[in-house]
Amino acid sequence: MTSVRLPSIDRLLRSPACQPLQQRYGRDALLKTLRDLLDELREPARHGQLAVVELSEAVLAGRAGERLAAWHSSKVRRVFNLTGTVLHTNLGRALLPEEAIEAITLAARYPLNLEFDLASGKRGDRDDLITGLIRELTGAEAVTVVNNNAAAVLLALNSLGARKEGIISRGELIEIGGAFRIPDIMARAGVKLVEVGTTNRTHARDYEAAIGPRSGLLMRVHTSNYSVQGFTASVPTAELAAIAHAHGLPLLEDLGSGTLVDLTRWGLPKEPTVQEALKDGADIVTFSGDKLLGGPQAGLILGSRELIGRIKKNPLKRALRVDKLTLAALEAVLTLYRDPDRLAERLTTLHLLSRPQADIRAQAERLAPSFASAVGEGWSVRVEDALGMIGSGAQPIARLPSAALCLRPQLSKRLRGRALLALEERLRCLPIPILGRIDDDALWLDLRQLDDEPAFLAQLPLLAEGEA
Ligand SMILES: *Cc1c(COP(=O)(O)O)cnc(C)c1O
Repeated sequence: MTSVRLPSIDRLLRSPACQPLQQRYGRDALLKTLRDLLDELREPARHGQLAVVELSEAVLAGRAGERLAAWHSSKVRRVFNLTGTVLHTNLGRALLPEEAIEAITLAARYPLNLEFDLASGKRGDRDDLITGLIRELTGAEAVTVVNNNAAAVLLALNSLGARKEGIISRGELIEIGGAFRIPDIMARAGVKLVEVGTTNRTHARDYEAAIGPRSGLLMRVHTSNYSVQGFTASVPTAELAAIAHAHGLPLLEDLGSGTLVDLTRWGLPKEPTVQEALKDGADIVTFSGDKLLGGPQAGLILGSRELIGRIKKNPLKRALRVDKLTLAALEAVLTLYRDPDRLAERLTTLHLLSRPQADIRAQAERLAPSFASAVGEGWSVRVEDALGMIGSGAQPIARLPSAALCLRPQLSKRLRGRALLALEERLRCLPIPILGRIDDDALWLDLRQLDDEPAFLAQLPLLAEGEA
């Protein structure tokens, strides 16, 4: 026996229960959702299957409301990055300081002098918005900004080395996550790759021997995401620059995660700075805006006025240029570097990277009891020392001493794996998903990056419900 008693679409649309939905999502979306819903409910009857369907207008409106809310929810979601990796490429890398967020808002809301020189009233150049700051901070003569560092490398190579040979050490033919490989980029840039030396050792004489009439440039890539240890040799930038210049060739240095300050000042591992690379004689230096610099996604290309001029004339530059929001944020971030004493306070990335372990541990001790009661029986929740990473290729070997909530299932070894995955999923399904890391039969929540404790605590009751 089949019985379907459902209201007509017109009645549903006019019902009081549907009025708020229409207000919120619009008539078209509501109509489509109700149609889909009614069709699905009538479906079994249409196939002669047994079904008794009798739903009130309020219940149907409720179901439609759930669907509309899901459909309407943003795909871009905030998460808690408790993975221990600060500059996590999959989670958006650097978090911008307030100054940059304000600059982005301003640039989004109002017209601005993006390519307009207010002094002369003439057309300007968007790179000019940060040229003064870059000169002041790094001593570089000129700068141009593109969409990311991969674009910066591509553009620099193509502008200075197309149809010529690019000489690079075999130890620097790296691949960065997301299919950025130096040999492929060189090929796409129209530069013929000439590899010299070996994976672990490359000498000055290797470069010398490779230089010939078809040479266009020498390149050096900061091997940012791996480390060759043991019997190794590479040619320092200063020596490589001397070799390049003796033959009238430019030296390109891709720093990857270039930084403008000596990070050892904050107890962090040494990363080569942009200033050092320029001082050592690199003619062009490229680096990312959203790695250690702590700014928006961008690729910065610094160097002499002459070479940057050639790069800016390349038609590819137009295809790779940055937008106004990026430039606004970049200027705000660079401005913070004028006051290195307050940088760790104001630049979010540096603030997070330099957070003392004792601070993080105190925070973990504070949160552990609430977390333990939310996660429920069957779990041991302890505060443990943890080792985080800078991420995005910076200092792959270096570890950041941190503290974590370490969640261990109190189960036999055989059952632990599944329990950990289930807990990981519960955390991922929270309104603000919490992302940790599974290691050594435990789920680790590294608290280095937990700044919003109230929001973290506010959703713990939901975690407890999820358990029930
Ligand atoms: C990260 C990195 C890149 C790519 O930079 P994006 O800003 O991600 O495009 C290129 N070279 C090196 C050495 C890097 O570390």
